[in-house]
Amino acid sequence: MRTQVAIIGGGPSGLLLSQLLNRAGIATVVLERRSRDYVLSRIRAGILETGTVDLLREAGAGARMDVEGIPHDGCLLADNGEMFRIDFAAACGRKVMVYGQTEVTQDLYDAQDAIGATIFNEASDVALHDVDSDTPHVTFRHGSKDHRLDCDVIAGCDGFHGVSRQSIPAALRQEFERIYPFGWLGILSRTPPVSDELIYARSDRGFALASLRNPMLSRYYVQVPLTDRVEDWSDEAFWDEFRARLPAEVAARLVTGPSIEKSIAPLRSFVSEPMRWGRLFLCGDAAHIVPPTGAKGLNLAVSDVHYLCEALIQRYRTGSEAGLDGYSARALARVWQAMRFSWSMTTMMHSFPEHGGFDRRMQQTELALLQRSEAARRLMAENYTGLPF
Ligand SMILES: Cc1cc2nc3c(=O)[nH]c(=O)nc-3n(C[C@H](O)[C@H](O)[C@H](O)COP(=O)(O)OP(=O)(O)OC[C@H]3O[C@@H](n4cnc5c(N)ncnc54)[C@H](O)[C@@H]3O)c2cc1C
Repeated sequence: MRTQVAIIGGGPSGLLLSQLLNRAGIATVVLERRSRDYVLSRIRAGILETGTVDLLREAGAGARMDVEGIPHDGCLLADNGEMFRIDFAAACGRKVMVYGQTEVTQDLYDAQDAIGATIFNEASDVALHDVDSDTPHVTFRHGSKDHRLDCDVIAGCDGFHGVSRQSIPAALRQEFERIYPFGWLGILSRTPPVSDELIYARSDRGFALASLRNPMLSRYYVQVPLTDRVEDWSDEAFWDEFRARLPAEVAARLVTGPSIEKSIAPLRSFVSEPMRWGRLFLCGDAAHIVPPTGAKGLNLAVSDVHYLCEALIQRYRTGSEAGLDGYSARALARVWQAMRFSWSMTTMMHSFPEHGGFDRRMQQTELALLQRSEAARRLMAENYTGLPF
């Protein structure tokens, strides 16, 4: 087989890149290790930045989002029960959209089907070859057959555990990492959300987040030690702990019910530089991971896709490789901004085992600054709703 751009990974970044390139007349083949049902059952991100919303519309995959997504123009922050609001619209004139990653992925698969894009689900043994030459190719197994896919460029959109980043020689990669000493226990429940807007709640018992997917689907999290296992947490234990970390007036109106999904995600900040090697370009979680506190993971994948797509369109329309040569630096400049924001939100809102009185005072002071200072609120709102692409 031959294509112009071979895309490894059919998560949000791979599918969006394929969709945008196909619409620009550039041929793609997507190789995804898992079945479509598996990819569509993963419960992950839920907050879309303005730029993400715009790009999904541009890709022809925004129609359902515009009907079912819920625009949010603010969020609530709480510190040991004291709660205040950050008004994004007033602070920076922008909003975010509440719309689950599962829905985004479904819409992208539907859009890809509508234009007849080529996606191999359950492609195994994907391997990259001759990446540092002008004639790269990818081999994989599908069904009972081995395949070879020749291409001009490979887009590594296969997430943190994928094969693309690992194909770059270790000596050419520089990795930056912070592993946080806790994870997030999250549940999904078919109950009315306790708040119309997200509540980020810091307390001496640890962090909690009240989020939502739609008016009858709540997504709630509590910070837990890394040693905890999902089996250790009954629904009742979760609800008790979650309630105890919320401001009293919020806890009083919490509606509980059985969890329909329950999982623990470790928190990590990670960047691998550069995001290019030869004809391979990394996008999304394949190159970087943020802790979910700033709601940036999915959005960063989308901004990478935007930069890579622009560079590829330039290459195929004009023959110029300038955009591809600049891709890594351009994407990383935005990645590090989102790293800083996610790290600062995580540090401000969580209990760290090693923290003492000084660190606690710093958290209180950061939160007080946001309450008092219009400039601080504006900085947070600009970052939360998304820095421009
Ligand atoms: C448990 C969890 C919770 C999260 N919660 C949030 C959140 O609340 N907010 C937020 O903003 N972000 C969150 N994120 C992060 C967000 O989901 C990711 O940033 C986003 O999915 C990145 O998209 P991606 O397409 O780059 O990578 P992925 O979504 O990881 O997609 C990569 C795809 O590549 C496929 N793949 C992997 N290896 C191979 C291979 N060898 N061959 C072929 N295909 C392969 C995978 O099956 C997958 O479908 C969460 C992530 C996790 C894991």
